[in-house]
Amino acid sequence: MAELNGQCMCGAVKWSSTGKVTRRLSCHCSDCQKATSSPFTTFLGLAPEMVNWTGEINHYESSHGTHRGFCLKCGSRLYFRSDKWPGEIHIHSATLDDASDYIPDAHVVMGSAASWLRLADDIPKHQSFQADPTDPDKE
Ligand SMILES: [Zn+2]
Ligand SMILES: [Zn+2]
Repeated sequence: MAELNGQCMCGAVKWSSTGKVTRRLSCHCSDCQKATSSPFTTFLGLAPEMVNWTGEINHYESSHGTHRGFCLKCGSRLYFRSDKWPGEIHIHSATLDDASDYIPDAHVVMGSAASWLRLADDIPKHQSFQADPTDPDKE
């Protein structure tokens, strides 16, 4: 498995992983919009124990049991972790050193997507969170 590497904008926080990517989603939920100051964010899921971090990370608890990590120095958002998905950490794909191979599998929470957004890709779009990854047409 090829190693994935990433970092925040200033480089004070770096991460690497040889773990299996469990999901690649583009999230349009209002919390992600606020947290990243952007219309949507894309992330990759990895097993937390398969990710090595260096540097100082701060957390914001955006809802009970949900923590969003960011660099203390430059403020770049790094990841989302929730007690609801203890086996996964969702790392923002924009932190990848090389994001050229990154393509999300689906758009989720389209119910709160920016009204002006017109997506030209043909990956599945779900009104809420992806219910069952084995059934991409189900919402
Ligand atoms: Zn930084
Ligand atoms: Zn979200």
